Amino acid sequence: MPDFVGAVDQGTTSTRFMIFDREGAEVAKFQFEHEQIMPRAGWVEHNPIEIWTRTAAVIQTTLQRSGLHDSDLAAIGLTNQRETTVVWDRRTGRPYYNAIVWQDTRTDEIAAALDRDGRGQVIRDRTGLRPEAYFSGGKIQWILENVEGVREAAERGEAAFGTTDTWTLWNLTGGRNGGVHITDVTNASRTMLMDLDTLDWDDELLSFFGVPRAMLPEIRPSSDPSAYGTTFRYGPLGGEVPITAILGDQQAATVGQVCFSPGEAKNTYGTGNFLLLNTGTERVRSESGLLTTVAYKFGDQPAVFALEGSIAVTGSAVQWLRDQLGVITTAAQSETLARQVADNGGLYFVPAFSGLFAPYWRADARGAIVGLSRYNTSAHLARATLEAICYQSRDVVEAMQRDSGVVLDVLRVDGGVTANALCMQLQSDILGVPVSRPVVAETTALGAAYAAGLAVGYWRDQEELRSHWAEDRRWEPTWSPEQRERGYAGWKKAVSKSFDWL
Ligand code: ADP
Repeated sequence: MPDFVGAVDQGTTSTRFMIFDREGAEVAKFQFEHEQIMPRAGWVEHNPIEIWTRTAAVIQTTLQRSGLHDSDLAAIGLTNQRETTVVWDRRTGRPYYNAIVWQDTRTDEIAAALDRDGRGQVIRDRTGLRPEAYFSGGKIQWILENVEGVREAAERGEAAFGTTDTWTLWNLTGGRNGGVHITDVTNASRTMLMDLDTLDWDDELLSFFGVPRAMLPEIRPSSDPSAYGTTFRYGPLGGEVPITAILGDQQAATVGQVCFSPGEAKNTYGTGNFLLLNTGTERVRSESGLLTTVAYKFGDQPAVFALEGSIAVTGSAVQWLRDQLGVITTAAQSETLARQVADNGGLYFVPAFSGLFAPYWRADARGAIVGLSRYNTSAHLARATLEAICYQSRDVVEAMQRDSGVVLDVLRVDGGVTANALCMQLQSDILGVPVSRPVVAETTALGAAYAAGLAVGYWRDQEELRSHWAEDRRWEPTWSPEQRERGYAGWKKAVSKSFDWL
């Protein structure tokens, strides 16, 4: 058995390749960003060719820098930004259109129409989701309706749909030279096209979006001892390594944080925030604006479900301060700037750039900065941006406690924003519970590696993985209960000001 396991993490802002050892420790990694294409307000696209060439480049660079080879890898796992939709020509490998990214709101109207008749309820019951622009179904419909020739090609079986796991897998396994067309249950559960009970595509759901079955990938377990395929010998690995796991990024982080028991939860702070609570093999229906989703399915064991609170804009609000407003030059400066002031100075920032996701689900909301006075500075805005990340998480934690009855005694966190110690302190203050960050902050890639390694027996079982988890740092609440409730009341009021904008 080779000594290491690899993981490709095809994220929203960048793609990375990581190599882990038997203790789950990071051995090597490299990453590249890709362009965020925003042709109109509310539209967000990626170039799938750029994503694939950068994926190939990060794999090659990681191997070169570490001196490792394909033969050192027991298996590879894939994890990915979820919902982002690619449709390509199987014969040429060329995408028909840019990838429509999960944050893109162009299909708001397609989603709203579903809720004006009974179809919305069918989607809720069968998929655990809500009819929203966020999910892939409407994005596929948009491409079928707006890009010439795609519908005919899809019906003939020439056009293939995939989220970026499937696109990456197809290319890694050879593309036009025999690439496999496969996704996993977690990614399929984000399309509005899969029935959570059967874990298969559902003809009635497909009919809602006019999606031909011939364009859809085969759905497989998230960790699969019968590998999806092997890397193409003439591809970036330079050899044949079994690919044995696919998990959507948030589900991968759940596995990386070893949330294997019902009641265990993690919150990932990246472009957006995603809190997932393991609910075991039982599907819990949300009454409070959360989603029901597949957490993972390992081999032929039953699927494990999660309740999910998805927040569209958290770390990307920090990017907005950097790229659009220019008040900071690096994301890390958000902390230095915010530390110049002791509080938010009455200012609240609701970054509803794509409407609001959980628990509000208001497509009609847009960003709002409220409570401004002449006194306020960019430091207050930076502070309010960090607080917005934490207040949105509190909204979701409250919804989760209502739906599940599980009261968190500690919040396990990961993701790029958790490098910001002030933000993590604010999170603990705003929630009133301790916040704990593990040593391996790259839990997304780690989770994909875990699932891949389990499939080939590189790791024995979930207990072995649990023994790897170690705390790096913990933040304890310092605010008084009155301060906490006053701050939260201000936030709720600010949120109400962002509604009814469109
Ligand atoms: P993704 O997987 O969604 O691409 P990452 O986990 O890589 O996201 O996190 C990237 C996000 O984290 C970016 O939106 C960036 O603005 C934010 N970020 C990174 N470092 C910091 C920091 N020190 N303070 C605040 N935000 C940060």
